[in-house]
Amino acid sequence: METPLVLGFVTTPLFGNSRSYVDPHTYEDPNQAIREFAREIDANYITIEAIIGGGEFGDVCRGRLKIPPNFVQDIDVAIKTLKPGSSEKARCDFLTEASIMGQFDHPNVIYLQGVVTRSNPVMIITEYMENGSLDTFLRVNDGKFQTLQLIAMLRGIASGMSYLSDMNYVHRDLAARNVLVNSQLICKIADFGLSREIENASDAYTTRGGKIPVRWTAPEAIAFRKFTSASDVWSYGVVLWEVMSYGERPYWNWSNQDVIKSIEKGYRLPAPMDCPEALYQLMLDCWQKQRTHRPTFSSIVSTLDNLARQPQALLTTRNSPENDGSHILEGQRGHNIFISTDLWLENIKMSRYSQHFKEANLVTAQQISRLTAQHLSDMGITLVGHQKKILHQARQLDTII
Ligand code: AMP
Repeated sequence: METPLVLGFVTTPLFGNSRSYVDPHTYEDPNQAIREFAREIDANYITIEAIIGGGEFGDVCRGRLKIPPNFVQDIDVAIKTLKPGSSEKARCDFLTEASIMGQFDHPNVIYLQGVVTRSNPVMIITEYMENGSLDTFLRVNDGKFQTLQLIAMLRGIASGMSYLSDMNYVHRDLAARNVLVNSQLICKIADFGLSREIENASDAYTTRGGKIPVRWTAPEAIAFRKFTSASDVWSYGVVLWEVMSYGERPYWNWSNQDVIKSIEKGYRLPAPMDCPEALYQLMLDCWQKQRTHRPTFSSIVSTLDNLARQPQALLTTRNSPENDGSHILEGQRGHNIFISTDLWLENIKMSRYSQHFKEANLVTAQQISRLTAQHLSDMGITLVGHQKKILHQARQLDTII
């Protein structure tokens, strides 16, 4: 997919940087929340191309969306449809996800293009993620990535979650199946439907089964529904385990009751094969019984950045002592794996322009690889020597896939 290089018009939050998420359920009229947080799209601008999955409310499709200003160019999109004949309640529940998603704007959170509510079928249009959900993606690519590539993905997930927790949004269903992956291996948080489910079904996991994703949920959230960003951090630890084990099912075929009992007794998942000790330690930190002892998402981002800065820290693994980790270093040679804009600038000794890149909203390797001298000048980077150095390094960016 061709993503336009966005320079200059950073989407400035209307309400300052500390904008809080508004729960659409606080609106008496759910349609009002939709009008406020989601752009209405004319169905004529949408072409459905293929069905790619089944959602709770109807098919999920891949398609194209014609975009402003002249509606000639089009982009790939994912289209969630509401089954024809659904009840008014189902329609509201379906659109709630869009009212939530529409409030977020972050490179690691699925972006809502808009909704179709004035014609049938009702649709939610989001950016298209070529590699689908993270759990399946890892299973079909078992063992194929370098540790630094996995760290780049994990860093993206932590960064998206850090943004959501800063907005006071608690996800409650963070799991690899709810993270989507695009063609550049960028991971984005998706699936904003669960918060409502749990509120309405207080006895969810005991009587109805499966409403609380037990294997991913912190003990205090299971025991007394204490869902917080700290319980999301517990779930992040499980996602970290899923990523490092390439999509293994947490606690394998254990029953939910066995998982709950074992966790209560202090059992924790073992380190996945070849998992660097530092990453396993991070999982254990996320699984601290006391939620106040767990790291925050922003400290997880810093920890991952630090690990990426010193790859030798990734050489120690717990369960393969004979392995000196040389394959990790070997794999890194000649690669320019993009973890974050700041780290990249640091590597090329151009950190002084960190703020310039932030202001221009340059967050992906793809955006940076397309920079020109004119862009840099527009951003206020005018020294020709520095421009040359940045552009030379930008051309070498290996966008992984
Ligand atoms: P969901 O109802 O959100 O769980 O979506 C069902 C399935 O559709 C997911 O497991 C993905 O494989 C796929 N899917 C959902 N959203 C997208 C998207 N934005 N891009 C690509 N695939 C998607």
